[in-house]
Amino acid sequence: MEKLEINTKSRVELIDITDRIEKIVKKSGIDNGIVLVYTKHTTTALIINENECGLIQDIIDTLNKLVPTNVNYRHNVVDDNADAHIRAVLLGNSLVIPLVNSSLALGTWQRIFLVELDGPRSRTIYVKVIPG
Ligand code: ZN
Repeated sequence: MEKLEINTKSRVELIDITDRIEKIVKKSGIDNGIVLVYTKHTTTALIINENECGLIQDIIDTLNKLVPTNVNYRHNVVDDNADAHIRAVLLGNSLVIPLVNSSLALGTWQRIFLVELDGPRSRTIYVKVIPG
């Protein structure tokens, strides 16, 4: 199991971690199997999508519309970040990516993103390459 440490910079932010995942996969020496990417936080998510700056802002704007910040969530009396938890639930906290002939089986426009939903913070992502 490898760990990726990422210091995020904003409250809500998409960080392209594809290159860092590929580096870990190469280092593993495994050519075929699956790659598990897992975030161990309740206010982050992992997604695969296109790294286009307009789209990234569209995703952030849509998250804001779907799960607004200024709502009287019960959890906000605890630590004032219920919106971040709910957004994380909608997006998911792990990915499984096929590894085929030493390459991640990503489409032309597919990139792997960590989605920070309550930053800035220090985050830890687990990456496990499973042969098969
Ligand atoms: Zn919380």
